[in-house]
Amino acid sequence: MINLVLFGKPGAGKGTQATFLKTKYNLVHISTGDLFRYNIQNETDLGTLAKSFMDKGDLVPDQVTIDMLEAEVNRNPQAQGFIFDGFPRTKSQAAALDAFLEGKKMNITATIALEADDDILVARLLERGKSSGRSDDQDESKILNRFEEYNQKTAPLKAYYQGQNKFHPINGIGTIDEITTRLTQLIDRL
Ligand code: AMP
Repeated sequence: MINLVLFGKPGAGKGTQATFLKTKYNLVHISTGDLFRYNIQNETDLGTLAKSFMDKGDLVPDQVTIDMLEAEVNRNPQAQGFIFDGFPRTKSQAAALDAFLEGKKMNITATIALEADDDILVARLLERGKSSGRSDDQDESKILNRFEEYNQKTAPLKAYYQGQNKFHPINGIGTIDEITTRLTQLIDRL
């Protein structure tokens, strides 16, 4: 079983690359951002709650996110492995994920970080916002707040996974194909 965490700032290409990797390695792709957006579209209570945070570019509270993620893993008992995209984003989410997987005799195989400079990421997000309709991609101040959340709460996870020898940085600048190749070369060596 391979369980991957795709790590990186907003716009780093996690969702795009996860789409390729899930097919190649037969993994279930879980994006917490997509799950929240699905709940918002369907006007669930979870969606209403999440929207109030997402609209500002703030993180949704940990326990709400952890419960949603665990429910999604439990919905896929036949999975041969998972790609976690956009989760964990805080230390307490990372610790909860480790404990949850351990309880299922599973673990994280590797955390792969897609790295790119902020100015490239802002440009990518504003471009995506033109077609995605995502309000958090259309407003530069919301984008910068998402980066701030990342720097404060998510960046410390690098040390957390380095401590487990599971952190693998990848150059996230280039064509989609080039980056997919870098990822698959790394995963094939795991
Ligand atoms: P994303 O699609 O991954 O860029 O996520 C969009 C938004 O969903 C984020 O800005 C957060 O508001 C929320 N979100 C997604 N994943 C998480 C998470 N793991 N923890 C907290 N909030 C999250």
